[in-house]
Amino acid sequence: MSSSVKRIIVLGGGTAGWITAGLLAKKHASNTVGSGINITLVESPNIATIGVGEGTWPTMRQTLAKLGISETTFIRRCQATFKQASKFVNWVSPQNNSYYHPFSEPQGYNRLDLGPYWRDIAATGSAFSEAVTFQHYLCEQGLGPKNIANREYEVVANYGYHLDAGLFIELLREHCSATLNVEHIYDTVEHVTCAENGDIDTLMCKDLGPLSADLYVDCTGMRSTLLGKTLGVPFVPCDQVFLADTALATQVAYPSPDSPIACHTISTAQSAGWIWDIGLQQRKGVGYVYSSKHCDEQQARETLASYIGDAEIVKQAKKIQFTPGHRKVFWQNNCVAVGLSAGFLEPLEASALMLVEASANFIAEQLPVNVAHMPLVAARFNTMMHTKWRGVIDFLKLHYVLSRRSEPFWQESRQAQSIPDSLGDLLQLWQYRNPNENDFTDTVEAFSAASYTYILHGGDFDQDLSPMQHLYTQHKAAGKLLTLNQKRIEQLKFTLPRHRKLLDKVVDIGFSSI
Ligand code: FAD
Repeated sequence: MSSSVKRIIVLGGGTAGWITAGLLAKKHASNTVGSGINITLVESPNIATIGVGEGTWPTMRQTLAKLGISETTFIRRCQATFKQASKFVNWVSPQNNSYYHPFSEPQGYNRLDLGPYWRDIAATGSAFSEAVTFQHYLCEQGLGPKNIANREYEVVANYGYHLDAGLFIELLREHCSATLNVEHIYDTVEHVTCAENGDIDTLMCKDLGPLSADLYVDCTGMRSTLLGKTLGVPFVPCDQVFLADTALATQVAYPSPDSPIACHTISTAQSAGWIWDIGLQQRKGVGYVYSSKHCDEQQARETLASYIGDAEIVKQAKKIQFTPGHRKVFWQNNCVAVGLSAGFLEPLEASALMLVEASANFIAEQLPVNVAHMPLVAARFNTMMHTKWRGVIDFLKLHYVLSRRSEPFWQESRQAQSIPDSLGDLLQLWQYRNPNENDFTDTVEAFSAASYTYILHGGDFDQDLSPMQHLYTQHKAAGKLLTLNQKRIEQLKFTLPRHRKLLDKVVDIGFSSI
């Protein structure tokens, strides 16, 4: 048998690096009986982490639980709040419209898809998400997704989190080093050498000198030092699909200590992009992601200042530039990229940390037993990640395609040649029927048919269901589900606390443990 994989170096100490090191260590680190796999994380004291990334998916609950981090500790340490949805304001047209992408599926989704029925039977004027899920109501009313009496990670309404990225890294660093046996080194890799077969051989660190491993995880952020720069894996730009390439990110104080905290990300469309608005416990994270071809920095700062209502705060906004895209492959030779080093599209729908979690879980679950198995595992990883990236690209693009805004940025964002074929095909099919799970035969698809349904109906997609009308004969059952949804709202509005009140209780008392 060829030599076993015994030593893993994770290069980079951002969210991607620590989540990957933590999940690997939890499963394989040398304190587990019979393992003896050593996991080292090297991060530069001089190269800052990106400092943004405040919205997560519900998958983060499983990730935290797997790492053995208590939900109460996480919420207390990371200024974290609950996220139940994304709300898209003025995406369809410039004024007075919004729609939700909630994390909970429509009522009775596994039994009957309400997509073809809701327009006929919902109360006049109600939005799709309002008619089919109680979570729309919870978000509008600022209610939390559970009670303090619920256990850690237990769900009444499905939720992820908003968090302070810097505090999250601190917690992960502390937990992974102290509890999960991740060896932690502060040093800067200045040079990388490769073996004749193209494998990475040695990382030359500024202070410690050479470090070697059997597997290297590149978490160096947009630098992509190992996979991109050293191994030369090409970057596949997606700037024909996504026009936004710059972000201005800032922090905004609440007007008063008891101001309500939104339980969803608010994404408000602007003339050349959109503004994210994320409520943490003691501040909000607000940023404008825009296309530098359609708006200069001064205009972008004015747009952000007008949204926040304070030009002074915007002076401190951090500018981040990026090219939307991803690496051609994500695992080559003995190097796998996770996080921004693998790629980044844009912050919409907060999919980047989900891709980190998916990558890290795969590597931890399918770690090659020896060096000879590395290409087999790498090929499987690349197949999975290509499916995920394709799915994320299609889903994010859908939000733009449905817009009817007339500014040049929005017109160009929905030009036919900018729409990937995979999404174009689906849109043709969905003109005459609703999305269903058979549209996505791959089990690793990033977004579910339910998510597509929320965006399609929220964005007022023009459908003609008449050619298949004979399939939609369950109006009575659909009506019952809508009534059930209303009953659920009546029940939850008296039992769920206001979001801020719930967070105060978590900070004071905490949830009971799992
Ligand atoms: P980084 O945070 O950049 O970390 C890189 C690490 O590599 C650092 O520790 C650095 O010191 C180290 N390093 C680099 N070179 C070397 C070297 N030579 N030697 C040693 N160490 C080195 N994601 C979401 O899921 N939700 C969001 O809401 C969201 N919003 C975003 C908004 C914006 C504007 C942007 C740009 C991104 C957003 N993301 C979001 C993405 C998210 O920020 C990242 O996916 C996440 O922070 C992971 O970053 P990272 O760890 O890959 O890289």
